[in-house]
Order: sequence, then structure tokens, then C-alpha cells
Amino acid sequence: MSTREELSGKRVTVAGLGVSGIPAAKVLHGLGAHVTVVNDGDDERARAQAAELADWAAARSASGEGGGGRRAGGISVRLGDGDTLPDGTELIVTAPGWRPDKPLFAAAEKAGVEVWGDVELAWRLRETGSGRAPAPWLAVTGTNGKTTTVRMLAAILEAAGLRTAAVGNIGVSLLDAVLGDEEYDVLAVELSSYQLHWAPSLRAHSAAVLNLAPDHLDWHGSMAAYATDKGRIYEGNEIACVYNVADPATEDLVRGADVVEGCRAIGFTLGTPGPSQLGVVDGILVDRAFVEDRHQQAQELAEVSDVSPPAPHNVANALAAAALARAYGVPASAVRDGLRAFRPDPHRIEKVADVAEVAYVDDSKATNTHAAEASLAAYDPIVWIAGGLAKGAAFDELAARAADRLRAVVLMGADRALIAAALARHAPDVPVVDLDRTDTGAMMAAVREAARLAEPGDTVLLAPACASMDMFANYNKRGEAFAAAVRTLAAERA
Ligand code: ADP
Repeated sequence: MSTREELSGKRVTVAGLGVSGIPAAKVLHGLGAHVTVVNDGDDERARAQAAELADWAAARSASGEGGGGRRAGGISVRLGDGDTLPDGTELIVTAPGWRPDKPLFAAAEKAGVEVWGDVELAWRLRETGSGRAPAPWLAVTGTNGKTTTVRMLAAILEAAGLRTAAVGNIGVSLLDAVLGDEEYDVLAVELSSYQLHWAPSLRAHSAAVLNLAPDHLDWHGSMAAYATDKGRIYEGNEIACVYNVADPATEDLVRGADVVEGCRAIGFTLGTPGPSQLGVVDGILVDRAFVEDRHQQAQELAEVSDVSPPAPHNVANALAAAALARAYGVPASAVRDGLRAFRPDPHRIEKVADVAEVAYVDDSKATNTHAAEASLAAYDPIVWIAGGLAKGAAFDELAARAADRLRAVVLMGADRALIAAALARHAPDVPVVDLDRTDTGAMMAAVREAARLAEPGDTVLLAPACASMDMFANYNKRGEAFAAAVRTLAAERA
């Protein structure tokens, strides 16, 4: 029986209203499932979403559209209680962000109820029933660089004339990609560790783990559990498991995976590539993996200057994207054309302006220490603006590595004391300004302080090493606030 048939008439609990829960509830209702949505919050927004969803379902049921032509009834929504398993639940489809230690999942386990995430649902529904083979997935995970790499990959696949999309946290949602009218040859899929945790049957054509550094440990419980979830992306790979030569933990995950026979381990490196690797030689991106004789041959793919921005970590992303594209069989020229066509997203090492010979750079997307370290390594000297929600991270290594490049540091946000303490231990001579603020307006004060501390030739770098939600709706808003503050400063100094 296909998943679609199985879901018809099933009692499915959707855990979490929101970006993944609402579309999932609609898809399940459309397939004839009896859907109950449970949600922790019971605020105004949740009530509005619940009312909209119930209206939508009622309208569909009344018109006979629900349940593949049968009347499927409404969608019931239970607000303010995301921990109690609704009676009769046969399957849970959870928002990826729900922590595995929530009582709802303990209750599900006890009752023998399976839990799928949004990715698992999309994966199982990708068989269209039209007889057409579903588009294979080229999957990317890692602590940092996922969005960038997936968008580079999509650009390369497009340059090869393939029908594709960058899906996951960006652009098209996975459910839309597998259920929509658009036909794809292959999908470039970004997967978070949360999504991988809840996607046990996912089997990618080829997959890459870009890097592995402590992040979201409060959610996963431990580094080992985090690594295990990331490693799931390699399970059942057919053609290539792509790993980062500079990050041996990623290669360990390849070794631990159960893959289709003949599937190859392919490394990427910023150094000279060995056989079965992609790397860099004299400013050229080179493939020694997908060539006829990998011991004798190397294929030139593109120049480092084709990558924007050509910062080392971004060249690594380009190599990973190239490896997945080559695993899918695209020609070398498409790698070059795709990389040339690629433009980075906002708030990722984005130069905002020069004011009084000081560069202001927005890397608001550096929401963890690993990402912040990559951008701190790209400038010297730096006035660093940091702070926010630490998500259980430690800042000692970051402070120690960045110490030599720091002119000064401006701190704000809920967990700023953790960063201040690490700086005191590892960079005691670097002046630190603690704004002692968590309000949105603190960004203007931070930029003013940074301007006061910076000298001509310096870079003021917003790379918070923390999540933004203590002060802003998201990292976009944080980056916008920084850019607005820099523009105000520029206008004042003009
Ligand atoms: P993700 O989707 O994994 O969050 P992004 O491509 O959006 O990744 O980049 C997130 C942040 O990580 C940015 O601040 C960027 O500068 C930094 N970054 C990007 N690629 C890497 C990498 N390979 N290693 C370390 N940091 C990176």
C-alpha cells in the first residue's frame, strides 16, 4: 500500500502549528486523514492560525474536496497543550523543532505510535503515483554553510540544464517540491539536524556533511546525539557520501553509515586533492574523484575567483556543491557556470558600507561560534559585535582563536556574560564594552560604540555567534537593524 493510501482515514496528530505544521496538516487532510493539531502556545497568533486552518478544512469538507473526494471532516486544533497525546492517535507528524525529550514523544513511544517529521512526510509522499520516477535528492547538512551550499548546488544543476530547486529551509518547501505541479529532475535539499532526527527512512542519491561543530546541544542532549542525527543523511546513499577532509568527524560519519554497495566516500579539501577528492590547486577548483582514472587524472572545474565571496569557508562550500553535482553526473563546465551565476543571500558576510575608512560587515547569520569563527578569520583587525542566545555553546575556543585579530568587542544580548568571561580568559588585553542591553534599540548603541573604537582600515563585524531571538524576531531582522544603524551613522558623519 502506498503512503497516500495508508494515510487515508488514519488518525494523525500534527505537533506544532507554524511553518511546517500548517502545510503538513493541510496535506494530511487532503489525503483523507483525521487531523488533530496540538500546539504548546495559546496566544493570539496561534488562535488566528487555528481559526484559519479550521475554516480552510471546513470549506474543503463542505465542498467534498477533503479526503480525495470523501468528506474528511474538519481539522481540530488543541492549543495550550502540546504534551498530551490525543486519544486514538495512530501517527504523529511533528514540526522539526520539537525536542525529542518532550512528554508527547514519550507518550507516543509508550503507545507504539510512530513519529515523522516534515521531511519524512515529504520523502514518503514523493512517489507521485503517475508512474514517473520521483526526483532523487542531493542532500546537504552541516553546522554551517547549508543554505549557501544548497543554493550553489541548485545553480550548478540549473547550469547543466536540469530542472531543479533549492529546497528545505529556503525557497520552495519540501512538501511543495514533492507534491506541487512543477516537475523536477533532481532536488538540492537542505536538511537540519532536527529534520534528520525525525526522518528515519530518508535515502538520498548522494549527501554531504559540510562540518560538525557543537550547536543546538540543548536540543539534542549531547554532541554524540547531534552527530548521530547529522550522520543519518548518509544512510542508504547510492552514489557518493561527501565529507570534509579538514573535519575528520564528518568522515567518521561516512564510515558509520550503511550505504548502497558501490557508493563512494568523496572528500573535499582546500588543499591539493588526493584520489577520490575535490580540492584546490593554484587557485583552481579541481576534481580527482569523478574522472576516469582518479590516480592519473584531474579535471579542472572552476577558479577560486568564480566563487562569491571567495572566503576560504565559502570555497569549501563550493567544493561540496561541486562534489554532489559531479556525483549526479553534471559536466565540469556547469560547475563553473553555476558558481559564476550564484549570488550569496543577505546577512552572510555582507558588506554594508564604509564609514570613515572603516568597513561594516553584516554576518548576522553567524548564529553559532563555528560560523562566527569562519568570518572572524576573514578580517583583521576587527571590532567585533557579538552576543544573543548562546544555545548551550562555549566561547573559549572562539575567543582564543580570534584574540589576535580583535581591536575591541561590543557585547549585547541575553548570554553576553558567557562571551565576556571567555574573552577575559583568552584575550584579557582586548577592550570589551558590555552594553548590558537586550532591547532592539541596542543595535544602534552597539554600532556607535564600535565606530568609536574602530580605527581606519578596521572592519566592524556583526558576527554574533548566538541566536537572535532574545532581541529580534530572527537573524534577518538583526542584520537589518545593523544595516540601518550603519546607514544612520553614515548619514551623521556625511
Ligand atoms: P546554514 O544554512 O547552515 O545556517 P548558511 O549558508 O546560511 O548556513 O551560513 C551560515 C553562517 O555560517 C554564515 O554566517 C556564514 O558566514 C557561515 N558559514 C558558511 N559556510 C561556512 C562553512 N563552510 N564553515 C563555517 N562557517 C560557514
